[in-house]
Amino acid sequence: MQLPVMILNKNHSDTKGYIFDIQGLSVHDGPGCRTLIFLNGCTLNCFWCSNPEGISRKPLPLHYSSYCITCGKCIGNCSQNAISIENEKLQILRQLCAECEKRSCIDECYTNALRLSGYEITVTKLFEIISRDRQYWGSKGGITLTGGEPLLQIDFSKEILAKCHEAYIHTAIETCGNVPWKNFQDVISYIDWIFFDLKHLTSEEHKNATKASNTLILENAKRLSEEFSGRLVFRLPLIPNFNDSNENIDNTITFIRKIGQKEINILPLHHLGREKYQMLGSVYYGGNFPLPTSENLRSIEKKFKESGIDCYLGGETPF
Ligand code: SF4
Ligand code: SF4
Repeated sequence: MQLPVMILNKNHSDTKGYIFDIQGLSVHDGPGCRTLIFLNGCTLNCFWCSNPEGISRKPLPLHYSSYCITCGKCIGNCSQNAISIENEKLQILRQLCAECEKRSCIDECYTNALRLSGYEITVTKLFEIISRDRQYWGSKGGITLTGGEPLLQIDFSKEILAKCHEAYIHTAIETCGNVPWKNFQDVISYIDWIFFDLKHLTSEEHKNATKASNTLILENAKRLSEEFSGRLVFRLPLIPNFNDSNENIDNTITFIRKIGQKEINILPLHHLGREKYQMLGSVYYGGNFPLPTSENLRSIEKKFKESGIDCYLGGETPF
């Protein structure tokens, strides 16, 4: 009997990851025009996060109140009694929601007011989407993995970065830095550009604001300086009354110089993510903090520049 001949496609990968968005035509997250891929899951929980729907590794139900007709169909379908309607407003009680596999509340909502904050995708499918976008990147563009923390789902990230690298696609990541060094080690040879957040140089302050100390982050930044051959650009999300003090800016300058680096991109606080907290049924504490003034931003930029560090404000990046 003749056995069937199996043709194995070495480019096919069933490795799956969770992502919550793909955005094309980005010009602020690396050189040229880029496709951004947002991965679910983060090891920090910053109070100003503009993508709070991406913090949980497992996709969560989000409630879009403007689509909701308060028909209550989702309520009966939740075995945990995690949904209620009070004063004509729907509430998901997060402490009761078991993030059940079936997500039956979502299936029952025909107005699309309940949606999941992420979906599963294979490396092969994602690479197909990336390859389609290639035609509008121009000569400098590529992909940027962001999130969430893009190095948390490390097997998935590693495969997609390796595939892009092999296909001569420029690769960047935006990382909070708070992952084991091994995760960086697994991917640095496939990455051309790293944006690395330095949120606060004092560990206690860092922990109060993000739920994790900065010890591992600073260690990883130092090791990347020694072992990463691509471009390393630090990022400072500037939050007035949290990390804009002279002391923190001086400490940041000292640290960057000490590890032999020379670039920082300041990202001023904005409140554009506020509505997402409502969809999650959680509180946006970032709203208690004012937006930075242009004088404040310019004076911090001046400080970095006078210390020999190239500093770019917001979208003024030299890409
Ligand atoms: S099923 Fe959809 S439209 Fe009806 S109450 Fe639930 S979320 Fe609102
Ligand atoms: S995800 Fe499951 S447990 Fe959570 S609200 Fe929906 S049905 Fe209930």
